[in-house]
Amino acid sequence: MINNQILKIKNSIGEKVKLVAVSKTKPISDIKNIYDKGQLIFGENRVNELVQKHEALPKDINWHFIGHLQTNKVKYIAPFIKLIHSLDSLKLMKEINKQAKKNNRIIECLLQFHIAKENSKFGLNLPIAQKILESIEFSEMKNISICGVMGMASFTDNKEEVKNEFKTLKNYFEILKDNYFNNQSHFEHISMGMSGDYEIAINEGSTMIRIGSLIFGER
Ligand SMILES: *Cc1c(COP(=O)(O)O)cnc(C)c1O
Repeated sequence: MINNQILKIKNSIGEKVKLVAVSKTKPISDIKNIYDKGQLIFGENRVNELVQKHEALPKDINWHFIGHLQTNKVKYIAPFIKLIHSLDSLKLMKEINKQAKKNNRIIECLLQFHIAKENSKFGLNLPIAQKILESIEFSEMKNISICGVMGMASFTDNKEEVKNEFKTLKNYFEILKDNYFNNQSHFEHISMGMSGDYEIAINEGSTMIRIGSLIFGER
């Protein structure tokens, strides 16, 4: 059942949109099952859980970190993490850059924006993101690569509202691209869309969807 779902989703989204299979809380055996179907990108939101899964599973998996990341935990994932979706402060950025340097790597990150109506401690707004990108500190970071934006829409049945929030994120992406990443092809990702709203997200320009329950079943 799991396998059919992922093939269905892959067929429906086409080649241009990347699929992150969100495997948080799911056992190694479920992940292996999906991996055996050719899926190589998996998303996790807890550092300890991710580290254990990384150790246990094949090394050609691309692990994405999608949850709130505490600065004191960056060091555990810095040796292998492929993409961090949840960059939401200059402080975290500095730590990622520092740990990436220690590991002789450049770590790719997305700027996470707060686009939902719900209150959340996490996620940037546009002025703060601009301030970070204009900072001297950022200009001196050599081991971090900003590859786009990420956001989560409100948890609501109101499709119009969800659509507008995705439009907002796409708009932020365009503004940042024009002002800070002009002609930089690595600034390319708009990570938006989950099990309940990924079709709306793709219509609004998503390049990367993060799907958990639709692939692995309810958590
Ligand atoms: C859990 C999670 C997802 C996947 O959610 P589903 O509704 O199960 O598809 C996507 N993005 C983030 C940031 C998550 O925490």
